[in-house]
Amino acid sequence: MPSSAAIVPDFPLQSCNTFGINARARAYARIDDASQLDTILADPQLAAMPRLLLGGGSNILLTGDVEGLVLHLCMQGKAIVGETATHTLVQAQAGENWHGFVLWTLQQGLGGLENLSLIPGTVGAAPIQNIGAYGADISEVFHSLTLLDMATGQRRVLDRTACRFGYRDSIFKHPEGAGWVILEVTFALPKQWEPNLGYAELARAIAAAQGEDTVATLSPQLVSDAVVAIRQGKLPDPALIGNAGSFFKNPVVSGAVCAALLERFPKLVHHAQPDGSFKLAAGWLIDQCGWKGRSMGAAGVYEKQALVLVNRGGATGAEVVALAQAIAADVQARYGVTLVPEPVFV
Ligand SMILES: Cc1cc2nc3c(=O)[nH]c(=O)nc-3n(C[C@H](O)[C@H](O)[C@H](O)COP(=O)(O)OP(=O)(O)OC[C@H]3O[C@@H](n4cnc5c(N)ncnc54)[C@H](O)[C@@H]3O)c2cc1C
Repeated sequence: MPSSAAIVPDFPLQSCNTFGINARARAYARIDDASQLDTILADPQLAAMPRLLLGGGSNILLTGDVEGLVLHLCMQGKAIVGETATHTLVQAQAGENWHGFVLWTLQQGLGGLENLSLIPGTVGAAPIQNIGAYGADISEVFHSLTLLDMATGQRRVLDRTACRFGYRDSIFKHPEGAGWVILEVTFALPKQWEPNLGYAELARAIAAAQGEDTVATLSPQLVSDAVVAIRQGKLPDPALIGNAGSFFKNPVVSGAVCAALLERFPKLVHHAQPDGSFKLAAGWLIDQCGWKGRSMGAAGVYEKQALVLVNRGGATGAEVVALAQAIAADVQARYGVTLVPEPVFV
């Protein structure tokens, strides 16, 4: 039986986005049950309104008020739903907090998500940009998801191939995926856990935490604890200082471009990719242009990590955009490299 969501007019969004931008929505609905979306679609007036899907608000930049209906996806629930010879299938509803879900899988004795601990936001948003950190991303453990196509009112199941995952990318960031609401996501976690310590900083932290101990005691929980400690040491807590994590994607350039840059800038931070391209460290480029710690109006560049833009108090979306544009222009002028923002501008 479909249920209805309360529609609240002129809703304040400051506490719904981790940047803490003080914008308002023309209308807002908290969605606790997917059937409430069917009810909204069945109402011609609500169905015709422009819509913004909102999870934890940790990867959006509100550049002004939202002239439409904000659908705040808060559906809860998580369970082990099956297994294969090699994997356990776990499923969570879109509104589940991502880090809470990671901790829950660890409590079930399941590894596979530990490198992605403490990433803010919801399970439903995780596939959108194929969230990743410390040498892992969700595409490696993704099984399938169920979505609601708001254009047709139909539900569909997409597997990993259909999601077209890439670096901070998926089909949901492209025109085909517009109007799709991710309702629940299923992950296949390995029964035989293997640590992923390819990221040097994580490997060092684990070695330090283990001391004289051998690798035999390594557990998913220990890796998760190390990831949490590293993240807390270098990323600002959005509860204390508004931000959306990394503001720019790390640019990927061809081997020829990377070689030419290295001739001019021998200290350029670069990582070889399997396809022969090179990923550059956006934070390093920004830092080299002298932006770390600087501010423009109430928007600033975080002192400990130049890749993170912060709200120093009362920043508007327009101020953050102006700062981001100034940084990108400097990096372009000095290195000829284009920086692309990671958060979605609304
Ligand atoms: C301090 C900090 C650190 C971060 N670190 C990382 C990191 O290490 N790695 C990383 O990848 N990201 C990181 N992020 C970015 C962010 O946490 C992720 O992108 C996260 O997945 C966003 O989830 P959310 O629920 O907050 O999405 P939102 O910000 O609410 O939404 C993001 C986009 O997804 C859409 N959307 C949300 N939910 C759904 C849904 N159910 N169906 C369809 N569309 C939906 C929204 O419309 C919007 O376009 C960080 C952010 C912060 C603030």
